[in-house]
Amino acid sequence: MSSRKRLSFSLLCACMVLLLCTACGNAGSGGNAGNTTSKVISVVAAENFYGDLVQQIGGNHVDVVSILSDPDVDPHEYESNVQNATAVAKAQLVIENSGGYDDWMDKLLSGSPNSSRLVVKAFDVARVKLEDNEHVWYSIDNAQTIAQTITERLKQLDSADAATFDSNLQKLNTALQQIQQKITAIKSKHANTPVALTETIFLYQSGPLGLHVLTPTEFQKAVAEGNDPPANTVITADDQINQQQVKVLIYNEQTSTAVTLKLQHDAQAHHIPIVAVTETMPKGKTYQSWMSDQLTALEQALGA
Ligand SMILES: [Zn+2]
Repeated sequence: MSSRKRLSFSLLCACMVLLLCTACGNAGSGGNAGNTTSKVISVVAAENFYGDLVQQIGGNHVDVVSILSDPDVDPHEYESNVQNATAVAKAQLVIENSGGYDDWMDKLLSGSPNSSRLVVKAFDVARVKLEDNEHVWYSIDNAQTIAQTITERLKQLDSADAATFDSNLQKLNTALQQIQQKITAIKSKHANTPVALTETIFLYQSGPLGLHVLTPTEFQKAVAEGNDPPANTVITADDQINQQQVKVLIYNEQTSTAVTLKLQHDAQAHHIPIVAVTETMPKGKTYQSWMSDQLTALEQALGA
């Protein structure tokens, strides 16, 4: 090899080493802009139970901000803040309940128009809908439909990870089917049992459970809307407890008022078991462990 040839050979080698190193560098850094190998979709969920569903389906391909998660806040009364607006402005996917439950989110969305952002409106997607009752996530059937829609939107935003989303959805559906089985099992033992409800939220489960809800609907609706229930409905609800016409009191802890606290107090005095339910998902739970734990508590309260 002549000295000139040797020089060009070593130059070629140096170039190849450089190329290899560049390739290594790219593979290692992964998340660089324009690199499609590890996409992370920014998601905002108006309520933490939807945030949990999208987190379970999206895994490490989503970055989720859930707005309503404080157990001491009544979601029916929530007002959004600047931080919420910033999060929504950056989001590629927004999940809201809609149906009048979180109108503040619609305001945030129209405040930062973005034609490429996808929005899931759970109430519109839900197949099971009760009259004047926007709490559609309390129906396990609806949770399955909503999860399916969320999966489709994630695939639209990140088609490369479609198989992962599908397999995560399948796992979630298996867990949701177990809750359905639990509901069927409770129904087979306790159908037609008379119960009291403080708020409309649990109607999405009391129906499938076959329970007989005695509390006047107007009473439950007023509590959900943050209004004073009509006086005659308060008397009826009180009497049902005091005369022990109901076997359990299902109590929404997140929408408690002086009127519901009196029912709770009277139930305690008459040794009527109280089953606490919440509007949003408690800390440290998943959607399915939340629903399952509440049903276990109900089953125990209903007795053998
Ligand atoms: Zn409610």
